[in-house]
Amino acid sequence: MTGIYIHVPFCRTICPYCDFVKRPIKGAAPDEFIHALAREIETYDGDRHAETIFFGGGTPSLLAPKSLAAILDALHLKFRIASEVELTLEANPDDITQDLLDHWKALGVNRVSLGVQSFDQEALRYLGRRHDADGARRACGLVAASFPNWNMDLMFGPHPVTAYPATLAECATFAPPHVSAYGLTYEAGTPFGKRSHEAIDEDTYLRLYALTGESLRGLDRYEVSNYARPGFECRHNLRYWHNDTYAGFGPAAYSFLEGVRARNHVKLEEYLANPGGKCEALNLTRREVQVETVIQYLRLREGLPAIAYERRFGTSLLADFGGVLRALVGRGLLEEVGHVFRPTAAGFELNNEIGLALVDAPAR
Ligand code: SF4
Repeated sequence: MTGIYIHVPFCRTICPYCDFVKRPIKGAAPDEFIHALAREIETYDGDRHAETIFFGGGTPSLLAPKSLAAILDALHLKFRIASEVELTLEANPDDITQDLLDHWKALGVNRVSLGVQSFDQEALRYLGRRHDADGARRACGLVAASFPNWNMDLMFGPHPVTAYPATLAECATFAPPHVSAYGLTYEAGTPFGKRSHEAIDEDTYLRLYALTGESLRGLDRYEVSNYARPGFECRHNLRYWHNDTYAGFGPAAYSFLEGVRARNHVKLEEYLANPGGKCEALNLTRREVQVETVIQYLRLREGLPAIAYERRFGTSLLADFGGVLRALVGRGLLEEVGHVFRPTAAGFELNNEIGLALVDAPAR
């Protein structure tokens, strides 16, 4: 079984903090792109059993229903798709209409991920989002009424920082079964890169992070930045955190198949000329896959059971990583319960440190 990721690299307007691969467009995603995607899917020759499909971007809600149908037709021709497939589509609140939601349902979409970010008008303006607070409320109401399984994306850190508690409170009124809440970053190469002096300090960051967990009652923090009602964890993203295989389609999309991490051409023109052509392909060593697997699992509350590692790699977790894992337990970032290592509250807050320690761990 694998997961399918489709990258839709178009946005109506460009948010100044965003470092995803995207470009502005006026109307719907163009046919030329849809044809290229269909060609790429047609020529794919990896694992053909899929249990998750995720349309990300960019703004997949800019796909016309007939385009979405064409991509799904291409996927169904190539893949044997599980009857219980999780089919997620990311959406901008401004694009949501009841008519569009009805189309998505009819096409098999069963999970909508809504990029709300904030319910505060000033914070949305700070982020340069195209939707406003009322648009976010309207979209949440429509999505919640149509899809039992949906996600609300939130962001902490935009100014005014004081608006965040009210956003969390308003989030709760829509009772989403899943919330992703990330801190705003000021990435080099984006317009916000030049405004990094506006970033909140680390103490404020940690305070808002803790507040997120406390405020989202009924949702478990099952991953560093993701919260869900039991049973509503994102199955597609769990594939990444379990370091399982996935096949990516569209410009800049990554795939991880048979130990090779490859990336499609990033520039749209190059992608259109050669859909599926790679700009990089890394044949990961066994040790690299082991390190990545341990790092990814330790983003999850469930942590890494020694048995899962041993079944996958045929060697002992403690023999391969026991020294560094126990040192992380000593630093209070991990706990060892039975034969499972999992992050503590501090390990969630400082998860990067777990990754750094594992990357530096000496091979046995
Ligand atoms: S809508 Fe999303 S992908 Fe597009 S520019 Fe804004 S943050 Fe980036």
